[in-house]
Amino acid sequence: MFDKILIANRGEIALRVIRACREMGIPSVAVHSTADSDAMHVRMADETICIGPAPSTDSYLSLPAIISACEVTGAQAIHPGYGFLSENARFVQIVEDHGLTFIGPSAQHIRTMGDKITAKETAKELGIPVVPGSAGGVPTVEDAKAIGADFGYPVIIKATAGGGGRGMKVARNEAEMERAFMTARSEAKAAFGNDEVYIEKYLQKPRHIEIQVFGDGQGGGVHLGERDCSLQRRHQKVLEEAPGPTITPEERARIGKICADAIAKMGYSGAGTIEFLYEDGEFYFIEMNTRLQVEHPVTEAIFGVDLVREQIRVAAGEKLSFTQDDLTINGHAIEVRINAEKLPEFRPSPGRISHFHAPGGLGVRMDSALYDGYRIPPYYDSLIAKLIVHGRDRPEALARLNRALGELIVDGIDTTIPLFHALLQEKDIHTGDYNIHWLEKWLESGG
Ligand code: ADP
Repeated sequence: MFDKILIANRGEIALRVIRACREMGIPSVAVHSTADSDAMHVRMADETICIGPAPSTDSYLSLPAIISACEVTGAQAIHPGYGFLSENARFVQIVEDHGLTFIGPSAQHIRTMGDKITAKETAKELGIPVVPGSAGGVPTVEDAKAIGADFGYPVIIKATAGGGGRGMKVARNEAEMERAFMTARSEAKAAFGNDEVYIEKYLQKPRHIEIQVFGDGQGGGVHLGERDCSLQRRHQKVLEEAPGPTITPEERARIGKICADAIAKMGYSGAGTIEFLYEDGEFYFIEMNTRLQVEHPVTEAIFGVDLVREQIRVAAGEKLSFTQDDLTINGHAIEVRINAEKLPEFRPSPGRISHFHAPGGLGVRMDSALYDGYRIPPYYDSLIAKLIVHGRDRPEALARLNRALGELIVDGIDTTIPLFHALLQEKDIHTGDYNIHWLEKWLESGG
């Protein structure tokens, strides 16, 4: 096992990794920018090292700074968390060239899945059902129109290098195609430095269902069921739950096996998520994320496993601590993402936390790096806390969420907490009757 792990991240996910390290008896190193000297992950780690100024390009994304931090502290392995360098194949290569271990999959798997066209081709070859669409990149508007005519409208134009919902545009008919195509391309160019786009059939009322997978790095693979992440705003997840309220045990077993087999065939190592849109009983692959997801705690809750611990074990060449047969679902879990944002515009709202109180009690988990007096810097992600509840069934989990939200206090800044209070008043949330468009429509109609 590793003697020391460096965490190339900040905020709640850095704490999450520090906690796993501590339970495994492994010393942890926190890196931080000058804007994060007072951050909780810096207070909690065994060692800390400043790696640069506030902008993340000069600190959390700086490859030389992070590699040097490993050399200075003697850390043998790097946990990337999510975001930042977690899906950067070049970084993984450099880490390995320095004789260090990246806690995650190989550079090659990250590269394959990071390009959405090769990801889709690979998925197809591995027997995973995909969304119908263009065979590869679409270079011109004329090609795009031909594909639209072929598949029938509406279609969605997506960036090959996409992520975070950027570079995605819907064309409802041929007249809309030119504008949608050009906008998607220029957004993709601006966000990812790559203007290649591809086209998919636009599904009208799907749910977002993703399968948590784990490769043991030795040719084996397991799945840990699904998460339903259909409540989204601008293609970004807001609330996630496991198991999916509409997924039957037979469907879970079927798609789970397809994913676990694919992972095994790839020789994939570590945690991954295979994302699908689900409509009328069919699953359609959209992408694979080769990292730990923000919403991993709902899976941990229902299976009773520590996914970060398993990531560390697999990276160190040890076996997964469970087999597929050991994995059984216990109850229902829901996570809400609490952002430092002012409603109704969801405008970033950094600032000083005058008072913070986390909820507690049976079945409540709060993953957050907040504390009384903490000043949220304006440079990074607006996610400040994840509230995760676990109950014996979905109604119990919803009641617990309501109770826990009532106990939670975040004073001094604006947050998205009122959004969740309002959502819990909605019948559709209680019946589970929502798809990926539900939240946007609800917000448009005044919430
Ligand atoms: P990103 O990597 O930018 O998050 P994804 O491919 O994961 O992009 O898609 C994000 C979200 O966009 C999905 O969860 C879904 O809400 C929507 N979406 C993507 N592809 C389609 C499609 N073919 N039809 C309808 N909605 C889609």
